[in-house]
Amino acid sequence: MTLRLTAAFCLAALAAPTAAQNLPAPSPAISADNLTETVRTLASDQFQGRAPGTVGEERTIGYLIGRLQALGLEPGGTGGGWTQPVPLLRTRLGTPTTLQFAHGGTAQPLTFGTDIYLSTLQPVDTATVAAAPLVFVGYGVHAPERGWDDFKGADLKGKVAVFLINDPDFAAAKGEAVAGKFGGKTMTYYGRWTYKFEEASRRGAIAALIVHDTDGVGYGWNVVKAPAGENYGLVVPPEKRTSLQLQGWIAHDVADKLFADAKLDLAKLRIAARRADFRPVLLPGVTLDASIPVTQTVVQSQNVLARIPGAKRPDEVVMYGAHWDAYGEGAPDAKGRIYRAGANDDALGVAGLFEIARSFKAAPAPDRSLVFAFWTAEERGLLGSEAYAQSPVYPVEKTVANLGLDILQTAGKARDVILVGKGQGSLEDDLARLAAAQGRSVSVESLPERGLFYRADHFSMAKRGVPVLLMMGIAGASDLVAGGKEAGQKWVDDYTGQCYHQACDAWDESWNLDGAVEDIELFRQIGDELARSAKWPGWKDGSEFKAIRDTSAASRK
Ligand SMILES: [Zn+2]
Repeated sequence: MTLRLTAAFCLAALAAPTAAQNLPAPSPAISADNLTETVRTLASDQFQGRAPGTVGEERTIGYLIGRLQALGLEPGGTGGGWTQPVPLLRTRLGTPTTLQFAHGGTAQPLTFGTDIYLSTLQPVDTATVAAAPLVFVGYGVHAPERGWDDFKGADLKGKVAVFLINDPDFAAAKGEAVAGKFGGKTMTYYGRWTYKFEEASRRGAIAALIVHDTDGVGYGWNVVKAPAGENYGLVVPPEKRTSLQLQGWIAHDVADKLFADAKLDLAKLRIAARRADFRPVLLPGVTLDASIPVTQTVVQSQNVLARIPGAKRPDEVVMYGAHWDAYGEGAPDAKGRIYRAGANDDALGVAGLFEIARSFKAAPAPDRSLVFAFWTAEERGLLGSEAYAQSPVYPVEKTVANLGLDILQTAGKARDVILVGKGQGSLEDDLARLAAAQGRSVSVESLPERGLFYRADHFSMAKRGVPVLLMMGIAGASDLVAGGKEAGQKWVDDYTGQCYHQACDAWDESWNLDGAVEDIELFRQIGDELARSAKWPGWKDGSEFKAIRDTSAASRK
């Protein structure tokens, strides 16, 4: 810890009002210097890129707890401690012993990584699929709130479900009945590959394959195959395990040929899948055979949770979240850096949470409790937050909101703030109102078809119905005070093109955190309002998460 930070804590303590009036107190401003100090520390070589299960994790957890203690927070984890255990399963597929489609007795061998890409989340030594029939399920969507069910009760047990990527209206032309039913170009959760695999498992399929399509998924086959057969999941009891032995993607041209060999026309089926009366189609006589060795390891990791108890309704929780993990060690970059330390992604979010916590501690205790969650394994698939959501320390029905910080722009003040997931929930209205009070406007994320809303830790809570808001600086071009949208776009392009998930995501002297300070302050205010009120934010009509929140409405009366 540095002298500068110690001084800041002392000043905050002196400034803390002693009167018991429970009104929002003028808070100490979010400090760019403190943010910088935290980021430089967490992104330093000492922390080795903060990969789960490494020495880097040990040091990170120790550092986080030390800072939280110094800030005067209480432990908020399981059993009264600071942490929540998150055991992770790492799997890696070896060279397949068997991997082929069979059609009427003729085998069509498949090249792993070229024709098909697979991984597993089974803790087994061999992933096996034996002569399993293939069923094309279209977009594979079950969305009661939209009157849509692609499955029509079809039995997928022991079968291979073949999906299209994105949601049913993604490729629809104007005037088609489905157009706009799934947000138009904006991706709904039904469009995400994670949803497809979850739905296949809910229906007992033995494998799930998505037909790759660069437009539909937003990236090329090179990205699909990049993990080289590796996958991460949570260690879960047998009854919670996925039914899928294998999950993955099939190359576009391979799928076309496979369907053609089965006397089916995939192009026509794509159009049929855009209709509500679509029914699953069995590929007659086609089966998948796979036998692939699996290397499995269990990695012990942890979330860190801290709390400021509410003075009046401590069981109601306003939650802030950021992920502490990054990508660990990799090949040296041009400057010889081996650690992919995630200075922006997401040491800066962690730093933001410290600043928000410091600010709350300097004010009278709020009515509701505040919980600060530092998630592990976000980069492995939102696993720390998912582990929490599966075993929440604070009941989700009384979790008022989850406010997440994951990547903030470092190019200075902006005239706007970027909204991710427009139309989902009422928190976006709070964002707009409080941004206006800062003299700023709201801009909607620039590529809603990429489904960023479903790709950060807040989403693990959204899936359980908790209203959420995400701050993600790369979601669109900020209208920067210096240089406008053009400069904002250049910052996004430079960061995503060169630094995102690379060693180049390091702290740099050129960072200007004046815009990030305003973004963090905005989230502080949103949480402050919620923590000092009895308001329950909600989901908007048409959100795929409204129904689940509604089921627990009685507990919030
Ligand atoms: Zn991140």
